[in-house]
Amino acid sequence: MNKGPNTKSRPHVAVIGGSASGFFTATLLARAGCAVDVLERADQLDPTPRTLIVTSHMRTLLGQLGESAIVNEIRKFELFTDGRTAQVPLNRPDLIIERSRLIHSLAEDAKSHGAKVSFGNRFVNLQSNGTGLRVHMERAQNAGAEELHADVVVGADGALSSVAQSAGWPRQPTVPLVQAIVRVPSDMSADTVRVWFVPDDTPYFYWLIPESNDRAVLGLIGEDGQETRRCLDRFMEKRGFTPLGYQGARIPVYDRWTPVERRVGAGRVFLVGDAAGQVKVSTVGGIVTGLRGAIGVSDSIVNGGESRELRSLRRELDLHLFIRKTIHQFKQADYSRLVDLMNDSTRRSLSQYNRDEASRVLWNIAVSQPRLLLLALRGLLSGASILPKK
Ligand SMILES: Cc1cc2nc3c(=O)[nH]c(=O)nc-3n(C[C@H](O)[C@H](O)[C@H](O)COP(=O)(O)OP(=O)(O)OC[C@H]3O[C@@H](n4cnc5c(N)ncnc54)[C@H](O)[C@@H]3O)c2cc1C
Repeated sequence: MNKGPNTKSRPHVAVIGGSASGFFTATLLARAGCAVDVLERADQLDPTPRTLIVTSHMRTLLGQLGESAIVNEIRKFELFTDGRTAQVPLNRPDLIIERSRLIHSLAEDAKSHGAKVSFGNRFVNLQSNGTGLRVHMERAQNAGAEELHADVVVGADGALSSVAQSAGWPRQPTVPLVQAIVRVPSDMSADTVRVWFVPDDTPYFYWLIPESNDRAVLGLIGEDGQETRRCLDRFMEKRGFTPLGYQGARIPVYDRWTPVERRVGAGRVFLVGDAAGQVKVSTVGGIVTGLRGAIGVSDSIVNGGESRELRSLRRELDLHLFIRKTIHQFKQADYSRLVDLMNDSTRRSLSQYNRDEASRVLWNIAVSQPRLLLLALRGLLSGASILPKK
């Protein structure tokens, strides 16, 4: 998106939340000629470090900008369940990134394109001011109230978004994600991710993701925070891992597409990233999908109407929902059969595409290994629900 000749009519946008999806949205809007303010509640840019795995699509989206955040590349997945194993080589490597480095790069880029970034500003609520939106903020240092006027507000303020709440979106469901920092086991190579299916502990899976030859993160998603931590500790004790630290937070569970725009009077309010639940529910990847959401939201703001990127993101998230629903009720026997069925042709189809391209992966599995799909459909037909039990 280049600055067009028509930039005078571009709206003034307030982006709430200075993290991956907020800063990327700010860059795209500033590049298109909008006046952009990014308002972040933290006192300074000091994002919590986290080791994340993303698909190589991040490189396509960010180019050079993302390179400084990449700490490792993954070329193989090893799947374990009940004494069985299967290996899935990747044609295009997945990337291990350090979240705080990525956010620093995105923040610099947003500023260099003219976005104004201010810290220590907590969004409180918004309302119509007749022609646009009045945004109420609170200064973190002295709790002083501040007011800002904008044509458009973008809520990039995470899973428990206050912007979403203030503009009337229903609250989205969330689940706890916990991971421990551990040493890489001596029998494991740093270009491999390990995944364990243990349905008695979690309907999701355990993962072990190396960020270097020495350090890895071992984690899981659960349904209840304390129980999830207990499961992780038990799992580590059984396999001889010593935790060197923990990372964790609640993440949104995508259970349906969230329309990203609402009108408040004459003003337009958008959600992006975790605030809009743009997280793949099968693998809980939220970085690449949040960046794609940012492209879609900035397109909608600048060009009006439906964004192609958002339509395609929605299809992708819905497919991941389909996959998750199909396996959410799997019992141990189902996982055992799944791993047994990972024959050569299935492996090829899994490795050929990256984990963002769920539709093509599903199609290839359906063609090469119909029994796998039948197994998955059984899960669907048994009425699998992916929401945490109340
Ligand atoms: C432990 C863990 C591991 C993960 N692993 C992976 C992984 O391997 N791969 C992957 O792709 N994804 C992973 N995710 C998910 C991924 O981290 C998120 O989807 C992504 O970081 C969301 O980015 P975001 O910019 O939308 O929101 P956030 O990063 O949550 O940013 C929201 C920002 O808004 C600010 N904010 C909140 N409220 C206010 C307010 N009232 N006023 C002003 N500012 C406010 C916050 O301070 C924050 O800076 C993981 C998540 C966790 C917790």
